[in-house]
Amino acid sequence: MDLHTHSVASDGTLTPTEIVELADKIGLAAVALADHDTVSGVAEFLKAGASCPGLEVVPGVEISTDFDHKELHIVGLFVDGDNIPLNELLREIRSNRNKRNDQLVEKLRGLGFGITIEELLEEAGGESIGRPIVAKILVRKGYFSEPQEVFDKCLNRNGPAYCKRILPSPVRAIDAIHAAGGLAIWAHPLHRGGRDRSFMRRVLKAVVPLGLDGVEAYYTQFTPEQTRAVLDVAAEFGLAISGGSDFHGANQAGVELGSGRGELEVTVEVFDNLREIRTGIPS
Ligand code: AMP
Ligand code: MN
Ligand code: MN
Ligand code: MN
Repeated sequence: MDLHTHSVASDGTLTPTEIVELADKIGLAAVALADHDTVSGVAEFLKAGASCPGLEVVPGVEISTDFDHKELHIVGLFVDGDNIPLNELLREIRSNRNKRNDQLVEKLRGLGFGITIEELLEEAGGESIGRPIVAKILVRKGYFSEPQEVFDKCLNRNGPAYCKRILPSPVRAIDAIHAAGGLAIWAHPLHRGGRDRSFMRRVLKAVVPLGLDGVEAYYTQFTPEQTRAVLDVAAEFGLAISGGSDFHGANQAGVELGSGRGELEVTVEVFDNLREIRTGIPS
């Protein structure tokens, strides 16, 4: 199964229906849609799932938050996409994302790159427009050879075009996910920015009391040692385990649905445990 994917509603390249069809074709037991800061793909995702009896489709979202000037991504699983408090928070985050995108385009133009906000809106398939769309445009225009190069040379935190965006605190994301009936999972806790076990423990001491339900231990970019470290701290803090590829279609070359870079494997037991916690009924 795969509990972390992105569609054209944010920075992926497949539609929600295409993700469901691919998941069904490769024989996954469960797949979750977790677009950045939007649930606009969820209705289509669930509709497509209704015609795949062997596949569980999980409505989700991935919310970027700020913890002590570090970005923490909280994935909400089993959320009600129509929930009003959740949608209000996501709308606020997207408004700040749009402001960041305006600044980013201005900064890139100042650096000599020909890109406009109209092109960005045209290239994007949905309402939550992320930096991978910017990278795609700059590659298409011949400034760079691949999206990763745009991040490495330009869009990263230390890059010349970097623009901060205003993010909510983790507790606001957790509360909104809970209001929508979902489970709050800390996504890829060891991914990027030299994060280690002591960072995880420091975050969890603060965030577990706020209601965090689980952590992603199985993740495309994790080594077996990193997965082990996440499983250890999850046990220490009494957290559930989740896992997924962070599939972005062609926007993240080499990362496949369900299998990541080839080694990823998230078992059905992981999913059954999450569903059990969610419903309170053993499956
Ligand atoms: P945004 O949400 O607009 O700030 O863009 C963040 C997205 O860009 C992430 O969800 C990834 O898909 C992608 N991303 C962030 N950092 C990198 C990086 N260093 N290399 C490649 N992709 C990245
Ligand atoms: Mn992304
Ligand atoms: Mn993330
Ligand atoms: Mn993601």
